[in-house]
Amino acid sequence: MRAEPKGKSMDSPIMPLLAQILEVQRLFRDKVIEELPLPARKARINNYILECERILFSPRLFREIGVRLATLLASHNPGTDFLPLISNLEDSILEALAVTVQDCLEPDLVLAMEIAVNELRLQKLCPLDPQVLAGFFLAALVPFYTAFAQQQMLDLADWQRGWCPVCGQYPVNGYNRPVDGRRILGCWMCETEWTYSRMVCPVCSSSRQDGQLLLTLVGDCQRRIQVCDDCGYYLKITDCTQASAGCDLQLENAATVFLDILAQRKGYRPASHPHIYDETVK
Ligand SMILES: [Zn+2]
Ligand SMILES: [Zn+2]
Repeated sequence: MRAEPKGKSMDSPIMPLLAQILEVQRLFRDKVIEELPLPARKARINNYILECERILFSPRLFREIGVRLATLLASHNPGTDFLPLISNLEDSILEALAVTVQDCLEPDLVLAMEIAVNELRLQKLCPLDPQVLAGFFLAALVPFYTAFAQQQMLDLADWQRGWCPVCGQYPVNGYNRPVDGRRILGCWMCETEWTYSRMVCPVCSSSRQDGQLLLTLVGDCQRRIQVCDDCGYYLKITDCTQASAGCDLQLENAATVFLDILAQRKGYRPASHPHIYDETVK
């Protein structure tokens, strides 16, 4: 199955900003690991680890991350200034935000953050759209999740589920790794990666032989969209079988926004957020 548009795929115009945000998040992931060490242990994973545990959190580090991200965002879009807000929020509010997100019954972290912002009435303190504000807070929370995930040192050889074993989010993209071509899926939130069958949909577990369709772009033989005809969700897949290593899934996600536009124009929905569209998942 081939899809428009024709021609070479181009890098997303927002790629430089997303790459810069990722750089700040990874810098702070390492800071979090350094400042909030987590004792080594063997976590038993039932549904996912953070279903019954919490990340280690520091309001001071959260504010520092927020200030860095706010400065970055304001330099790209002067109308988006979170600096006064993040600089003035007290530690107790930031603690409450982190706890409310994690204790929320809503498993999708995008929705959980929107609910938390609303519950704590943070939108009253900021003239910007509450969804944009929630997106900003979620971006500042990412390093605590990636640090937590990295500190788990998990052996995921037996993990056979479509969602992230650490934070429970569904993947937005993956790659076929070199040597054996097995499919690696990645968590958009905590960056955990795990192997998952190429022929099975991570959202609805359908393995119907002709249910998994591939959309490819003319001129780009390495990237494709895998859509599930049974549930209507899609994944973005990068073929790394001929490469020397797998790819950085966060950067690849940012570089392939055009694939999201294409898939969504065709009526498919990103596998990363099934709870936003479908309350019956899981
Ligand atoms: Zn995760
Ligand atoms: Zn499906």
